[in-house]
Amino acid sequence: MNQIPNYIIILDFVHKRVIKIKLSDEEKQFASSFDDLEELVDALSEVYHFSLVNCQWMALDEYIEDSFGFENNTEVNLALSFVRALSAKGILDDVISTNDIEHVRVCEHCGKLMNEGWVYEGIENYCSDACLKSAHPEIDIDVLKVYAIEDNSNSYWTKWEENIPYK
Ligand SMILES: [Zn+2]
Repeated sequence: MNQIPNYIIILDFVHKRVIKIKLSDEEKQFASSFDDLEELVDALSEVYHFSLVNCQWMALDEYIEDSFGFENNTEVNLALSFVRALSAKGILDDVISTNDIEHVRVCEHCGKLMNEGWVYEGIENYCSDACLKSAHPEIDIDVLKVYAIEDNSNSYWTKWEENIPYK
C-alpha cells in the first residue's frame, strides 16, 4: 500500500463511541506492508479494541473536526476550524493580507487567532507563555523576558497594530 493516510476515524455503533486514531510513524511503517486500507483497519482493530463488524470507518489525510453544542464549542473553536481549513489549503496568509486584518496573528502552537503574543526568534508567534513553552520546552521564559527588555532581542511579547504589514 503506497498511500498511507494520517488518520483513521471509526464510529463504533455497538459500544457507542467515536475512535480517532492519528497514525504514528511506526504504524505508518507497519501499514506500508498491507495490501489495502481494510487490512490496516483490521490490524488497528486489535490494537484499539473495536470490531470491524460493528463499525464504519474512514481514512483521512487531513483531519478537520466540527463539533456543535459541546461545552468547549465556542466562536473561538469555530474560528479555529476555519483557520485550520485555510492553513490546510495553504491560503491563510493570503486571506489575512487581502482582508486588512494584518494585525491578526495565528499561534504557531494552538492555532488561536491573536493580536498580542510572543514573537519568538523573530519569526514564530505564540499566544501565551504556555504555548511558547509547549513548542520550545528547552527555553526559560523568565530568561527570555529579561532578554526581551534588551533592544536587540528578537524574542519578545508584543501587540500587533492595524496597518502594519503582515510578518
Ligand atoms: Zn497558542
